[in-house]
Amino acid sequence: MSGVIRNVKYVYDNKREINTTKLYNHKKDKIVILGSGWGGIHFLLNIDFRKYDITLISPRNYFTFTPLLPCLCSGTLSTNACTEKVSKFLKKNGLSGSYLQLECTDIEPTEKFITCKDNNNKEVKIEYDYLIISVGAKTNSFNIKGVDKYAFFVKDIQGVLQIREKFLKILETCSMSNFSDEEIRKLLHVVVVGGGPTGVEVAGEFADFIHKDVKKKYKNIYPFISVSIVEGGNNLLPTFTQNISDFTKKTFQNLNINVQTNYYVREVDENNIYIQSSVNKNEKGKKVPYGMLIWASGLAQTSLIMNFLKKIPEQVNNKILNVNAQLAVIGIKENNIYAIGDCKKIQPLKLEEHVKDVINTFSNSPTNFTSDLLKSKADELSKKFPQVSTSKWDYNKNKKVQMDIQQFCEYLKQIDENYKSPAPTAQNAKQEAYYLSNLFNTHLKNNTQAHQIPSFIEKWKGSIAYIGNHQVVAHLPFYEICGGYFSFTFWKIVYIQLLLTWKSRLFFLLDILRTKICGRPFSK
Ligand code: FAD
Ligand code: MG
Ligand code: MG
Ligand code: MG
Ligand code: MG
Repeated sequence: MSGVIRNVKYVYDNKREINTTKLYNHKKDKIVILGSGWGGIHFLLNIDFRKYDITLISPRNYFTFTPLLPCLCSGTLSTNACTEKVSKFLKKNGLSGSYLQLECTDIEPTEKFITCKDNNNKEVKIEYDYLIISVGAKTNSFNIKGVDKYAFFVKDIQGVLQIREKFLKILETCSMSNFSDEEIRKLLHVVVVGGGPTGVEVAGEFADFIHKDVKKKYKNIYPFISVSIVEGGNNLLPTFTQNISDFTKKTFQNLNINVQTNYYVREVDENNIYIQSSVNKNEKGKKVPYGMLIWASGLAQTSLIMNFLKKIPEQVNNKILNVNAQLAVIGIKENNIYAIGDCKKIQPLKLEEHVKDVINTFSNSPTNFTSDLLKSKADELSKKFPQVSTSKWDYNKNKKVQMDIQQFCEYLKQIDENYKSPAPTAQNAKQEAYYLSNLFNTHLKNNTQAHQIPSFIEKWKGSIAYIGNHQVVAHLPFYEICGGYFSFTFWKIVYIQLLLTWKSRLFFLLDILRTKICGRPFSK
């Protein structure tokens, strides 16, 4: 029996005192999870329901498999392939967690409760022992005039379905109307802003839809349709390799996608996008007429996070929630609020401020410090300081054979400054969720001292992007893929593995088959 003795109660029965030593069920600590996205759902999947009382709170009663959202813009896949009901994950070991369809509006860290509102704006207060914040981020329009008003965002299911609906409506309007050629050309110009994986995938999906399906159904207007992609930097897919970026540009040119790299958007109005060269400041800006604008660039924090920051004296000036290397929110005295995913940034302890701790790991205090000496202790030290791990600091590139103590301190400072918090990706949110749920399942239950819990260090497993015309690029730890006949098969295998349930896998395969045989649908 897992209960523990909480209270010894003396019960007077017929004036006889009986020591009942009653066994009360141990009241489990209550964990409240905010958000049903990558972080929240994977935490839920791995947390031990026998040890904690779990409540998940999110306005969205389903999980979205975001990497496949671009395929919904074109109709290659349907929503069934990339959503999962939250209720599917609430039962485990014969126990269930609870789900409340609410949006959290305020966090009260000293009194340990949160305020939420329901669909009717009614307020509810909910207590917690531990709070896991995984509310993600929203799209950033960088305060560029007109973007919030006129652009479509590729962020969630509603957003991508609106994109598809709008494009289908434009096609219908243009095919029936007697607009001038110039007007039709403008209406049928789809502009995607952002050359990262999402923007590239959306542009590639549009190209497929246009050249394979729209071409057949709307022969008369097909020649007027165009797709452009605008990117401020020099490369598409800048986080992949140069080879992949070049291959993507070439593929896009073959697909008639107009690539505008080194341009940023200055302003948007109802009919035009005003772009400006990001390399040549003297170049006059360009006015680009558009019919549909898709914004796939940048992240901004939610109002919940921005308001919460104001309540933490150590974080009032931050723009994003800072957590320590164990993912606990910095400045929360009870250490009972954690954050994972896109809403946080890891800010580890500084080596520069713990030089003694570093030197203490060396067997005898050396007079000459070398990078190899530090590297030999990297595994041990990275439990507390993730920035020294060999995956975060390149010891070969930064080799030092002789340093005095002052130079060594300088070297440590460089390592501190080089540390980059895990990128805001699904892959990292998932790893953080597993790390944190393991921390709850084991360390917190065993009362491990906070400083003895090894820090979180993400493992990079590679990136993959579908760029249209059955071409896939992938930047993998030991390999890269630049299109080719089998690349699309590789893409399918990757996603079959990553999808969360058999239901999604089945729909994924059926949708791909349907697209191959019947093409993409034109109905809603
Ligand atoms: P999310 O998954 O966004 O989840 C946030 C959850 O919090 C949602 O359920 C939301 O409803 C809920 N929420 C919001 N506010 C509140 C509130 N106030 N109270 C309660 N709940 C709230 N990453 C990759 O690694 N590979 C990819 O290929 C990839 N492709 C992507 C494609 C697209 C189109 C997009 C948009 C993102 C993609 N990403 C990809 C990034 C990835 O989706 C995010 O990094 C990941 O979703 C972050 O997880 P999260 O849990 O922090 O937030
Ligand atoms: Mg989440
Ligand atoms: Mg999600
Ligand atoms: Mg992707
Ligand atoms: Mg998050």
